Amino acid sequence: MSLLEENFRKRGYAFFEVDSTEEAVDFLLDKLKGKSVAFGGSVTLEQLGIYERLQTEASCIWHWKTPGCFTEAASAQVYLTSANAVTRDGEILNMDGSGNRVASTLFGHEEVLFVIGQNKLTDGLSAAVDRVRNVAAPRNARRLGRNTPCVLDGICHDCLSPECICSALCILRRKPSSCAATVLLVRQDLGY
Ligand code: SF4
Repeated sequence: MSLLEENFRKRGYAFFEVDSTEEAVDFLLDKLKGKSVAFGGSVTLEQLGIYERLQTEASCIWHWKTPGCFTEAASAQVYLTSANAVTRDGEILNMDGSGNRVASTLFGHEEVLFVIGQNKLTDGLSAAVDRVRNVAAPRNARRLGRNTPCVLDGICHDCLSPECICSALCILRRKPSSCAATVLLVRQDLGY
């Protein structure tokens, strides 16, 4: 067992690692077959094309495809998402504007499944927070066309702008006790 796997397992997660996006899709198709699956907003999941691939295998709901479907998504068996940063010690970080994503990683689903590209791994919590605020959030703000200062220079200015996408930073020290949770690490760069 690798040190990374050991660190996630001691925090309560099932942990799997694959080398390619193709292997990640195969893993997800097998694991999610026959389930109801809600998707969190995630460029990683978009890049994998897993929503489209799962259509005939599972019941899928994603607010990126069906705007406003949050109530239906909240009752899905599985919540599929990524993370903005993950420490090699096993902590998982997500920043959220509306709150649906971090809420769903904490409570309400039978299982949460995190798909993580290798570019999200950091050494320590401080580096992880820095990644969230100065890499992931500015890029997401730019993707969404927000009028925030980070869009101009790629650096967080700790704004309280009306268009700020950073309302809540969730740091999962360990798996919440109310659900099962799996980390799938993909040895490729995915998302922001
Ligand atoms: S807090 Fe504001 S400036 Fe900082 S990353 Fe979020 S949206 Fe950008």
